[in-house]
Amino acid sequence: MDFKFSSDLEFALSADRGDSLAGFRSEFIESEDDLIYLDGNSLGKLPKRTIGLLDDVTRKQWGDQLIRSWNSDWIGINKRIGAKIAELIGAKPHEVILTDSTSLNLFKLAYACLKLQGSGRDQIVSDELNFPSDLYILQGLVDMFGSRHELVLAECCDGLSIDNEELVSLITDKTALVSLSYVSFKSSYMYNMEQITRIASEKGAMMIWDLSHAVGAVPIELNKCGAGMAVGCTYKYLNGGPGSIAFLYVREDLIDKLVNPVWGWFADQNPFQFELDFQPSKDINRFTTSTTPILSAAGVEPGLDIMLEASIKEVRLKSVKLSEYLIYLFDKWLAPLGFDLGSPRDSDKRGSHVSIRHPEANRISKAMITPKNTCTVVVPDFRAPDFIRLGLTPLYLGYQDIYRAMFRIKEIVVTKEYQEYSNNQDTVT
Ligand SMILES: *Cc1c(COP(=O)(O)O)cnc(C)c1O
Repeated sequence: MDFKFSSDLEFALSADRGDSLAGFRSEFIESEDDLIYLDGNSLGKLPKRTIGLLDDVTRKQWGDQLIRSWNSDWIGINKRIGAKIAELIGAKPHEVILTDSTSLNLFKLAYACLKLQGSGRDQIVSDELNFPSDLYILQGLVDMFGSRHELVLAECCDGLSIDNEELVSLITDKTALVSLSYVSFKSSYMYNMEQITRIASEKGAMMIWDLSHAVGAVPIELNKCGAGMAVGCTYKYLNGGPGSIAFLYVREDLIDKLVNPVWGWFADQNPFQFELDFQPSKDINRFTTSTTPILSAAGVEPGLDIMLEASIKEVRLKSVKLSEYLIYLFDKWLAPLGFDLGSPRDSDKRGSHVSIRHPEANRISKAMITPKNTCTVVVPDFRAPDFIRLGLTPLYLGYQDIYRAMFRIKEIVVTKEYQEYSNNQDTVT
């Protein structure tokens, strides 16, 4: 896409005036007077609707109705919300369920794949840009299956992206499973989902997409791409709340072929018959484990509703424009100060965050978050060794925010303000 930008504040103000999504900003709680929040890719903001809903769920559904609420709303909540997520990721309503955490869901589905794939297929393919938890889960599975499998990682040659040809060359008739993040957490590199899914399928490999950094940020068409399985997170771009429940997707024809390794009662056909022998449910419930944490599940719905109201197509259009504007200012203001772009320039290969790199990234991000000489607080996050991630969430960010955040970063480096901060790393970054 071609946009005309300028580095005058007036440009940002006028772009904000023409922004059709600007109204969604008031759906979210503003935390401080002058805070520019660029970390919605890690923990999304609190929707105002969530507060009222959780008040209702605690006082009325729990407080007054007690256990009776299980039959009115609670028992079906993870399928109901799963169906809304399905709408967002191009799946059928009965192919998605809200359950457990992303890492656990990856574990369950990856286990099921390895169990289903016969001997002879002893490789698992992933890449060096994948989220460490995903790689740890895969490493643990290799151990669990008696080190029969080998985990093969496509290399990242430029620090930002994966060479498609190299990845494709690793997928062979020995591959049991391909497990990739659609959008990479550090550099924002985004795969061609349709192409990789097709190649994996042609080679007889099973494939799981991790959508954590993609869902609510970019349009996803799982069915159209022929994707078999996916997992993802709801506390990032979906604004579901800290540690909110994750989701998993299994294509309908695969559901009864895959075995969940954790035989909890909620995966049974009839949990409330209390039979002594496990009979796996025939539908997507077979991939759940336990009683749904209702407060957490309920909190997922408002953010999801807002996203569906805004439409992911519109959200993506604005996200690309915001990112291109940010990169325009980066080239003008930050590149001359020793920064490198830490994300692909081609928007077709980039999710909704943009990373910038600098040898002093840690101290610069501290100066952004806890400034000493200004009230403008900018919250990005730092990813070792030298990445500052700037998350662009179109529902509650505008062009002026980008202008001011980039201006602030420039100021911190020009005045060497970051030198007043230590290089220690916080526990959570
Ligand atoms: C955020 C994220 C996770 C989170 O895992 P949890 O199990 O929720 O802690 C997993 N994978 C990817 C790719 C992520 O971006």
